[in-house]
Amino acid sequence: MTQARVFFTALSLIAITACTATGEKTPPPAPSVERHEGLHAVLWMQRSLEFRVAAQQIYRDAMSKLPAALTKPGTAAAEQEGQANQASLPPAVVVDIDETVLDNSPYQAWRIKNDSEFEPANWRPWVRSSQAAAIPGAVEFTRVASEAGARVFYVSNRDCPKVAPAPCEDKDATVADLKRNGFPLVDAADVMFRGEREDWNGKEARRAEIAKRYRIVMMVGDDMRDLLPSKMVDDLRKPGSEGMHAAHVAKIGVRLFVLPNPAYGGWDDLIGAERCKSGDRDCTARVLKRKYDALKTFEPKTR
Ligand SMILES: [Mg+2]
Repeated sequence: MTQARVFFTALSLIAITACTATGEKTPPPAPSVERHEGLHAVLWMQRSLEFRVAAQQIYRDAMSKLPAALTKPGTAAAEQEGQANQASLPPAVVVDIDETVLDNSPYQAWRIKNDSEFEPANWRPWVRSSQAAAIPGAVEFTRVASEAGARVFYVSNRDCPKVAPAPCEDKDATVADLKRNGFPLVDAADVMFRGEREDWNGKEARRAEIAKRYRIVMMVGDDMRDLLPSKMVDDLRKPGSEGMHAAHVAKIGVRLFVLPNPAYGGWDDLIGAERCKSGDRDCTARVLKRKYDALKTFEPKTR
């Protein structure tokens, strides 16, 4: 996640101009309004009816496809394709956590107001505060899946600084958050953090771990890496490459469901794969320029 600030003083200039034009004494300049790269994305997620409806719509769609996902043979996970015993395994649904079932927009808003980059030092206090609300539709979907007999796993790139079974404060707080919001959770071990085991970095290894005991019938995430192997996602980011992985692409909207997240994600890394430290203006300016350069625009015809 990268950000940069642009100082916007138009409002104060307008205020000064208006006063001097009428001959009144010039008032002290109004506080400048600061524009932030992430402002619109976070506002849209927090304040728009459209985000709420979009998330509910996706979860309702997933719920409507759940009976078929449970009864028809097959798996949602590429890691489970070809696994001989999958039909005999009990069903599971795998969901991501951040911006899939838990809403971290207050943390994003804090970053905007404090001109801070994403850093463990400012992320962990948010996680440990256990204040996240549920993404609209997520509790209902996971409850319906659980009541239909599917075990719900929460596979997250929130990380444990120590390898299990060492205590993990972030995980304890996350489990508390999930329970407080009413998410079904049979066992804390069904919440799988990055780094809990040596090989749990990408999500592939955790899906493969679940696939040993369950048939993964459906997955929901806000990043394609929540749903598909990273290498496959890298391929699919290249336009026109859907045919390379057609069988997996065909699962989207059937066994795989993607929520919108305009604030951050793998797409953001693609544009500016550089993580700046808070206060590093050179870095944020460099990343912002890279993003401007990535815009697809048009050239108006001059007469
Ligand atoms: Mg996420």
